[in-house]
Amino acid sequence: MKNSIPRNVAVFVDRDGTLNEDHGYVTSPEQLVLFPGVPKALGRLNQLGVRVILVTNQSAIGRGFMTAQDFQGIQQKLTNLLLVHDATIDAVFFCPHHPKEECVCRKPNIAMIQQAAEQFTLDLSVCYFVGDKSSDLEAAHKAGSLGVLVMSSEYSTAALRARDHGKFPIAHVAESFVQAIDWIEGDLVERYQRSPGK
Ligand SMILES: [Zn+2]
Repeated sequence: MKNSIPRNVAVFVDRDGTLNEDHGYVTSPEQLVLFPGVPKALGRLNQLGVRVILVTNQSAIGRGFMTAQDFQGIQQKLTNLLLVHDATIDAVFFCPHHPKEECVCRKPNIAMIQQAAEQFTLDLSVCYFVGDKSSDLEAAHKAGSLGVLVMSSEYSTAALRARDHGKFPIAHVAESFVQAIDWIEGDLVERYQRSPGK
């Protein structure tokens, strides 16, 4: 199938609770446990030529639970786990701040998304954001991107309720990360690869 997906499309992904189990804070590589099928699903996006950009709040740094170096060690484990399946994350943006600092990067703020958009010349209106929390879906909405909610953590139902109360729209609700990527893949094909007469 001819790949006609423009290079200004990206899939933003949250980390904790979306790619991996979220039991409070992930502060060591051992605590990073991926959900089933995550590397292969990301690999499918890689093969479609869609950039995958990780956007994660890591207030455990600002709270003093770990250092930025610890975070990089955890990211190295993630990179290694993905590499086994020839999958890769194209860029990582993280907010190290304590919520009290009221920074512009911590989701639902969108400074990290805007920075990525600038760096990779993205059209945010055709980008996707996959996450398990209200802050992810709110950030997606503020950025003008398509929010995809995965029901993979204890926070997911709160995001559904917020949607029902009109806080933000959700383009798709998926039971798992793999199903979220299935939907995005189908949506991309629909948008960019539908050939005439098909
Ligand atoms: Zn921040």
